Amino acid sequence: MGSMTIRAAVTRAVGAPWSIETVELAEPREDEVLVRMVGVGICHTDLSCRSGALPVALPIVLGHEGSGVVERIGSKVTRVRVGDHVVLSFDSCGQCRNCRHDSPATCFEFFPRNFTGKRTDGTTPIQQNGALIHAVFFSQSSFATHAIAREVNTVVIDKDLPLELMGPLGCGIQTGAGAVANSLGLREGDSLAIFGAGGVGLSALLAARALGAGSVIVVEPNEKRARFAQELGATHVVNPMKTPDTLAEIRTLGGGGVNFAFDTTGIPAVIGAAVEALLPGGVLGMVGGPPPEAMMPANLMSMLFRGVTAKYIIEGDSNPQTFIPKMLDWYRAGRFPFDKLIGKFPFESINEAAHAAETGDVIKPVLVF
Ligand SMILES: [Zn+2]
Ligand SMILES: [Zn+2]
Repeated sequence: MGSMTIRAAVTRAVGAPWSIETVELAEPREDEVLVRMVGVGICHTDLSCRSGALPVALPIVLGHEGSGVVERIGSKVTRVRVGDHVVLSFDSCGQCRNCRHDSPATCFEFFPRNFTGKRTDGTTPIQQNGALIHAVFFSQSSFATHAIAREVNTVVIDKDLPLELMGPLGCGIQTGAGAVANSLGLREGDSLAIFGAGGVGLSALLAARALGAGSVIVVEPNEKRARFAQELGATHVVNPMKTPDTLAEIRTLGGGGVNFAFDTTGIPAVIGAAVEALLPGGVLGMVGGPPPEAMMPANLMSMLFRGVTAKYIIEGDSNPQTFIPKMLDWYRAGRFPFDKLIGKFPFESINEAAHAAETGDVIKPVLVF
């Protein structure tokens, strides 16, 4: 098998800065595609893997919001062609019960296919002087000049779109927007409270606006992010550090409560307030990473009397092959300006880009090549 030399940002130790190194990338297998990266977003999950909050095998090439141009395809690839512009998303098996029912985000093989750093047969397409480097993170490892993806997680998009900005549609933006559109099923006029105005929370806000939501209340302690949420269409913002009773404030602003709530914080006390803020029949969707020992802090009798639901959501319950085109339809119609969340950095500045995300200076850094 031949291989090619590429440049990749390698995670060598927990908490260490990324080092951009020369490595060898194998040719695509029969169900794989080789993509030259044009842009790649940095998602909170990449930062959690680097910090050790989400343990992964090291060394590894992270990156899971890639966009680029297809350079080569495997012999059994039929839907993707050389030269296609593509967005890379998460991997799924395509065969389990949930995949067969159009729910790839809850694929029974979601964890092994996206987080182990190896293909399901134990191999990896990246090496350095004969030494194994973990790769295929979300079946892409797109913090690199080139990536190997599978046909199932490669979404073809139109060539007139600004390709370098499209990567975040594959994870962070899909996660927030899909939660509102797919998992919560928000309809015109429904109210929503969003806890946390990072990339995922603000993507939920943009989707709520695209769907014609009524009141959208954003709870966010960072004043800069809160102001930005208002610019993007939040009807109310609440600073939980300056509000004596956040729950009471949401009930007042929402006229008794909200139809839907969306938590991106994973903080048990916030989740407890979010459940209590729901009107009868309401649904809380959660995506934030909680402390490992945390339990659901909700009063069951209170939930019973309102008939409310609380659920965790993966990747916005999206099928990327259909939901990414849907977000792009909204974008073209001027109803989903997700590009306003993005700040661009050269690939070589990946550590500065991650720092900007951690401090909140940039909502969604995108590395360009
Ligand atoms: Zn599956
Ligand atoms: Zn992600």
